[in-house]
Amino acid sequence: MFCTRCGSKLDPTSRFCSSCGAPVSTNAAPYPPPPPASTGYLFRPRNNRMIAGVCAGFALHYHWDVNIVRIITALICLSGAGALAYLVAWIIIPEEPYALPMQN
Ligand SMILES: [Zn+2]
Repeated sequence: MFCTRCGSKLDPTSRFCSSCGAPVSTNAAPYPPPPPASTGYLFRPRNNRMIAGVCAGFALHYHWDVNIVRIITALICLSGAGALAYLVAWIIIPEEPYALPMQN
């Protein structure tokens, strides 16, 4: 269990968060806060990438199927302009930050 207010790990038997004092509700998140993928900014993930992670980044951000994104990207790239767009996206979109160690 994790505190819904500050995100620190909670003892399942405690009724209040030891870090911020917030009462522990029964619907407290069973998992730590979600990774950056679902917090709404576009990045190139470090894993599951084919070339630079541009396709995987768009797929994650817009909840598309990464295989469909890759097929469409490949088709667009066949016309030169698509390849240029891929290079631009590669340069513009930041790489996923390294995962930080879990806070306890
Ligand atoms: Zn707390």
